[in-house]
Amino acid sequence: MSDRPATTIPSRLSGRHALITGASRGIGSAVAVRYATEGAVVAINYSGSEGAAKETLDRARDASGKAGFTEAASRHRIIQADVGDERAALAMVDDVLTDWGRLDILVNNAGIQSEAESHAYTIAEFRRILNVNLTGALVCSQAAIRHFLSRPGGGTIVNCSSVHQMIPKPGFIAYSISKGGLGNMTRTLALEYADKGIRVNAVAPGAILTDINNAWRNDDDAREGVESHIPMGRAGDPAEIASVFAFLASDDASYITGQTIYACGGLTLFGD
Ligand code: NAD
Repeated sequence: MSDRPATTIPSRLSGRHALITGASRGIGSAVAVRYATEGAVVAINYSGSEGAAKETLDRARDASGKAGFTEAASRHRIIQADVGDERAALAMVDDVLTDWGRLDILVNNAGIQSEAESHAYTIAEFRRILNVNLTGALVCSQAAIRHFLSRPGGGTIVNCSSVHQMIPKPGFIAYSISKGGLGNMTRTLALEYADKGIRVNAVAPGAILTDINNAWRNDDDAREGVESHIPMGRAGDPAEIASVFAFLASDDASYITGQTIYACGGLTLFGD
């Protein structure tokens, strides 16, 4: 990011309370920090390392403090839950609501993938991926929507999809199906609750420099191979995805629902 011009970050999320799943690292962490910078109070969900979640918490507090949101900075928190576990996901949303008394933004970001040829992909593994990427997102969305419906003003959901919502990813059958499903979930929920003050959208990143891409991001030749397929000629930074999540959660997107924004350096223009 250092060779790109600095931009002034707006304060569009002041007073909003946001729960971000899978936010201990990668895109989710960048979203938490961006939301904190824009004034939101954030709950950073994690399923594994508490240490990484605490690092995101520190960065979010720092970002809020620097942007002048000292009250918000004191209210950020971390919250452990495996979103693939229905009871844990519901307890997480309950916990946040009990703590804050409100939730304005849900970001379904947690996601996993694994590779195997489709004819050899085990159904147990298929279910594991779908459970986190799709069912987990639906369970969290249901809980958030019940809250949004219970109060004036509604709320908003932003899902983390993928270019593989549209472009098939050979060897990643469960991941591709989960993201295709997430795109349809986005549109279905958007339509169902459009007249209830609830907006539901998705961001579909392309190749972003996070741990999910460790197979190629730290290997120069492999990275060059990936980047050669991207019209803009480079992989993306998590911050470039977080800014789209901030836009969609903000009132700048007040007339947008049911949409997926592809943030992928033009990848979808070529196909994979
Ligand atoms: P990442 O592996 O760094 O982050 C994934 C996050 O999800 C981690 O914080 C992980 O702990 C969390 N997570 C995994 N399983 C969980 C569970 N059961 N419960 C709660 N949290 C869980 O990778 P990332 O790139 O930051 O991925 C974030 C999202 O972005 C995913 O949904 C992924 O599919 C999507 N995405 C990433 C790319 C990319 O190129 N990096 C492209 C398209 C879409």
